[in-house]
Amino acid sequence: MISPRPLVRPLVRDLHAYVPGEQPKIAGLIKLNTNENPYPPAPRVLKRIRAAVNASLRLYPNPSAEPLRRKLAALHGCDPENVIVGNGSDELLALAVRTFVEPAPTAGRKQRTSPSRATKVQYFTPSYSLYPVLAASHGALSCPVALAPSFDLPPFAALMREGCWDFEAALSLITTPNAPSGRGYSMKQLGALCRHQRGVIVLDEAYVDFAGEHALPLALQRPNVLVARTFSKAYSLCALRVGYFVGPSDLIAALHKMRDSYNVNALGQIAAEATLDCLPYYRDNFRCVIATRNYLTQRLTALGFQVLPSQTNFILTRPPVLPAEEWLSRLREHKILVRWFNQPEVKEYLRITVGTDAEANALHQSARSILDGVAASAVPLRRRPRAR
Ligand SMILES: *Cc1c(COP(=O)(O)O)cnc(C)c1O
Repeated sequence: MISPRPLVRPLVRDLHAYVPGEQPKIAGLIKLNTNENPYPPAPRVLKRIRAAVNASLRLYPNPSAEPLRRKLAALHGCDPENVIVGNGSDELLALAVRTFVEPAPTAGRKQRTSPSRATKVQYFTPSYSLYPVLAASHGALSCPVALAPSFDLPPFAALMREGCWDFEAALSLITTPNAPSGRGYSMKQLGALCRHQRGVIVLDEAYVDFAGEHALPLALQRPNVLVARTFSKAYSLCALRVGYFVGPSDLIAALHKMRDSYNVNALGQIAAEATLDCLPYYRDNFRCVIATRNYLTQRLTALGFQVLPSQTNFILTRPPVLPAEEWLSRLREHKILVRWFNQPEVKEYLRITVGTDAEANALHQSARSILDGVAASAVPLRRRPRAR
């Protein structure tokens, strides 16, 4: 008999896969854990998707999503050759690792004294927790660099210091605005970093529609900068998996070589094209989400939560009285799902997706009742007579 386990590559056997936020199907659950948009796609988008569900589903989709790339190029003022569409931006991030980074020499073979820059995937921590998984699954070298305690980028002089940021790393992945901190980085900081970087930089702008600034000009000016965007979060299309990169045509062409022939499904392409015809609808939604973000911040602050300023559709907050992990489970008892990360820099925080005003009110009510419960149970404790 063959034992199946040894048939798997050692690298894969030891791999810690990415842990996505839960998607439980519980009636009445308020789901604020995976940064989905609380508002549905535009009615015209749903109509176009429905109209596309017909006998033509037997045909393959456009292999390079060309009509969609043409529309995106027109939107961003570039050529279709500057755009690649992926099965979510996650697929493109993985492609970037496979396209620009050499796998490190495997254990057992002779290790070089200093790891080659060609094998390095560099990113700030905390940021998107998929990056180290992508590096590991490719056998590349993961190079985390700590953000400042305020979750801002370290000052440029600090990045330049020996042993901090590697300006020659093959690939650097920067979530901007960042997750899970919600913090936006200034174009000035990002521009300086990109100008000095010798390797490829991906600016992952998954949340940029909720921010004040975007870095697209860098992708259209610099030879080594790609900007990642997605229809998932801001455009309410998580289920259909459409994301894209904008950047120099040579880098985009290299990524095209590495992708699957039909990497973006037909309904996703149609939905994304229709979305670009309804941008005013989505811009109204962004304004609603931002207004609710401010409202939620103010309500939680009044209860003693420390809420960090956010440029995204979620907030990072340090809850009062109880540990964050305890808040996670107590809120769950109130049918409210938020996210907690067991990572040293953020384990005292909760990441809460901005939903509707009604959801913000429900969260506020539950938080207040949890705090009241703690206060009530604390009284008898204090009054309990000392043991003799
Ligand atoms: C959600 C998210 C993505 C992935 O988006 P998809 O297009 O749905 O794959 C990429 N980067 C960051 C930082 C995200 O939060």
